[in-house]
Amino acid sequence: MKGKRHIYMDYHATTPLDERALEAMLPYLREKFGNAASQTHRFGWDALDAVEAARVQTARILGARPEEIVFTSGATESNNLAIKGVCEKHAAKGRHIITVATEHKAVLDCFAQMEKRDFETTILDVRPDGLLDIEELRAALRDDTILVSVMAANNEIGVLQPIEEIGARCKERGVLFHTDAAQAVGKVPFNVENAKADLVSISAHKVYGPKGIGALYVRGKHPRVSLDCQLHGGGHERGLRSGTLNVPAIVGMGKALEIAQAELEEESRRVLALREKLRQGLAARLDHITVHGDLQRRLPGNLNVGFAYVEGETLLMRLDDIAVSSGSACTSADPAPSHVLAALGVSVDLAQASIRFGLGRFTTEEEVDYAIEKTVRVVRMLREQSPHYDLARQGLLDDE
Ligand SMILES: *Cc1c(COP(=O)(O)O)cnc(C)c1O
Repeated sequence: MKGKRHIYMDYHATTPLDERALEAMLPYLREKFGNAASQTHRFGWDALDAVEAARVQTARILGARPEEIVFTSGATESNNLAIKGVCEKHAAKGRHIITVATEHKAVLDCFAQMEKRDFETTILDVRPDGLLDIEELRAALRDDTILVSVMAANNEIGVLQPIEEIGARCKERGVLFHTDAAQAVGKVPFNVENAKADLVSISAHKVYGPKGIGALYVRGKHPRVSLDCQLHGGGHERGLRSGTLNVPAIVGMGKALEIAQAELEEESRRVLALREKLRQGLAARLDHITVHGDLQRRLPGNLNVGFAYVEGETLLMRLDDIAVSSGSACTSADPAPSHVLAALGVSVDLAQASIRFGLGRFTTEEEVDYAIEKTVRVVRMLREQSPHYDLARQGLLDDE
């Protein structure tokens, strides 16, 4: 592999740990190793101080209060706690819950699980631009609806759902609103009050923090949200999530969120410019390409493009020195096309010939230039071997 470039453009899958977050963590992996629950000595006190400082940092980026933050192992766990926790606690009030077809598997699978436990689920479709039609939500809300879960930003196509309107509709009807904001927080402005969110899931490793740590925001006032805990034990995190706190990871998340908040404006402008350079660079030199999802209401670092008339697996193989992900399910054992692209009405062939470019904090202009050159070269080469592309070019085929 000597001389090969390895360009990382998969920032939606995970992000590298910011050096400053790592530095903040190191003392808590070394001499400050105490258990935050040990409140009889200095070691425990130092650990607890660090956890509470990180709780403040986490609350601040969400516009929340520190006591509304529950530390978890990541957004998957936060989604599980929010959805199962609400269903179990509020089943007497109603057994109907609503989500959207393009959600992360961690939400969709919780809904499937609740269905097995005799809850009734409504999975709303999205429009071809990936956005939820607010009228469809309004029509789906019932007197026995107890929870709506709609993500803030989609991890595949980057579209930003109209969560403020969704939150407002839920509030009108007295229904709890959960949003999986793992991709949104730190990338686009997000605030629990504007979103009128009752529960919010976040994950540190999507914002340059460490893996295996996240949080759930649980609204404390107007209304005070109650949940059934999913991990029983020592009663940590106000009884909502037992288990010894992962102090170094919590410290790293706090620092990562503080940095993200301070640099959001400048970073999003820079990343958006790179994304637009990439999009325009591809569009100027390739025909028959489709950007999936709305381009305006979108994460700055996301570009998900379908290249008609090429074979998806070969495309990905040829882009071997650029780390991207494809329109096939990321659980690579299962080559089924992405459920998100399917929900947009994208054909199986085009979904498989789609690439998700995820740009972020450490992406450079040179890397974008290289990605354009390489992608154009590979797509042209594959199309030269495609009889369909030849016909399409002569106008003898409908666009794929
Ligand atoms: C990454 C991601 C998750 C899962 O988060 P983990 O912390 O890895 O469990 C959930 N939802 C969305 C939208 C994500 O992007």
